[in-house]
Amino acid sequence: MDYNRLFYMNITYECNNRCIFCISHNTKNRTRHVENPLEIIKEVNNEYKFSERDLFIVNGGEPTTSPDFKNILDYLLETEINIVVYTNGRTLSKYLEYTKNSRIRWIIAFYGLNELHDKYTGRKASFLETLNSLQSIAVKNRSNVSVKFLIENKEQIEQFKELSEMLSDYNEIHLSLILNDNISNRLELGKYVSVLIKELLKTHIVKLSNLPLCSLDSTIKIDLENMTVKNISEYFFIDEKANVKRIDYDRNHKWLSQCDSCKLHNICCDNYRKYRALKIYKDEISLEEE
Ligand code: SF4
Repeated sequence: MDYNRLFYMNITYECNNRCIFCISHNTKNRTRHVENPLEIIKEVNNEYKFSERDLFIVNGGEPTTSPDFKNILDYLLETEINIVVYTNGRTLSKYLEYTKNSRIRWIIAFYGLNELHDKYTGRKASFLETLNSLQSIAVKNRSNVSVKFLIENKEQIEQFKELSEMLSDYNEIHLSLILNDNISNRLELGKYVSVLIKELLKTHIVKLSNLPLCSLDSTIKIDLENMTVKNISEYFFIDEKANVKRIDYDRNHKWLSQCDSCKLHNICCDNYRKYRALKIYKDEISLEEE
């Protein structure tokens, strides 16, 4: 699906995790509550008139901790907009009725298995809670979920192989580096991630983001000629005072000097601010927003 506009909102800054790399406000700053996020969304809809060609990203903090979470989903579903929810998934089993709806995509993140995941989230047993939530989703609804592996070092990679086998009914796995400020580390790690990509491609749809494509093993072929590019024309960030700001994520990203002349630049997914992922499935490859 090509989208005209993407609307992004942190509906709360509260979170039940304390992730060590968190780029949101909740871990390093004082917890902030967003007053009446539903009213803000209604106001924005009145002005912008959401349509089936638009995408709304519900994020936080952890969005499921917001008392307005269900009402927000219900309201957005009354409009025609498509919805993506970024969640740590710990309490997702409370929202199973929404996982049936293919207009909502759930992006659920892992950092590894058991203690390693819990070390990153700062919360004991968070791995098991997220895994149990995923297992509670009916198999027929699992195509509405993208399991995201957040990668900071090569030690996680073996664990992710094991986790992908445990989640074999989830056909889409999204790999994203969390080294946001260090391009040389991202370039180095890309080589190790290539091994995982090749393994996952045998069984899964693979999505890649925040990963410099030039770091991938040359045996991973990106067929530029037969690629489908899906772009969003406009990105809007909605803040807690109902201001809607238009964002140019590419301009705000620190590209390398060699990126200017790189033939992959237009599809490169090395930009953690942008909700863009390269999707590879068998012989099909596409650039998608989510
Ligand atoms: S645009 Fe090209 S050179 Fe720059 S990070 Fe992406 S693949 Fe590498």
